[in-house]
Amino acid sequence: MRSITTFDLQYAHRFYGFKGEAQYLHGHTGTLTIEVEDSVNMGVNMVFPCNEIQKTAWNILKNFDHALILREDDPLLPAILGVYEQQGIRNGAPQNTMKGEAFKTELATAYPECRVVVTKETMTVEGMIKIVYELLKDKLNIAKITFTSGVNAATCDFTVNRTQDRCPLCGIALTTEGVCPKCGYRKK
Ligand SMILES: [Zn+2]
Ligand SMILES: [Zn+2]
Repeated sequence: MRSITTFDLQYAHRFYGFKGEAQYLHGHTGTLTIEVEDSVNMGVNMVFPCNEIQKTAWNILKNFDHALILREDDPLLPAILGVYEQQGIRNGAPQNTMKGEAFKTELATAYPECRVVVTKETMTVEGMIKIVYELLKDKLNIAKITFTSGVNAATCDFTVNRTQDRCPLCGIALTTEGVCPKCGYRKK
C-alpha cells in the first residue's frame, strides 16, 4: 500500500536558452506529491506516518521554497550572486532563517545561505522530479513523484524492492541498530 504526502513550493526560475516566455525570470507555486510504498506496519496500521514523510522530505525541500533555481551555465547566476555580494547577503542574512540542509548531488546543489539552487539541467517539472528522487531515494521508499507547476505537470513511477523496518509503536523508520529514534523502542 502507499502513504501519500503533498508539499507546496514557491520558487523562481527560468528556462535558459528556451525560445518561449519561460526564458524570462518568473515564479510559481509548485505542488509536489510523494508516494511512499511498503507493507502495512501492523503495529500502527500504516505504511508510514505522513507527518514523518513531511519532516524527512521538508528538511531537504525547504531549499527549493522561496528560492531561486538556476541552471549552472545561466549568466543570471553570477549576476545575481554579484548583487547579493554587494548587498552583503550572499553568505546569509539574520532574517534568512527557514534554511534547509545544504546538499550536492549530480543534478543539483543547494546554497541555503542565499536561497539559491543550482541545477545541471533546466528546472522543468520533469527536472524537479529527477532532482527530488535523487535526494530522497535512500531515505524513503518512493514509488511515485508528481510535480505540478502552473499548467505543467509530470509524474514518474519508481520500483520499490525493499521494505523498511519501522517502529510498531509510532511507525517511523528504525535505525540500522533496530532502535526507534522517536520513542526508543528496540527491535528484539
Ligand atoms: Zn516556469
Ligand atoms: Zn517508535
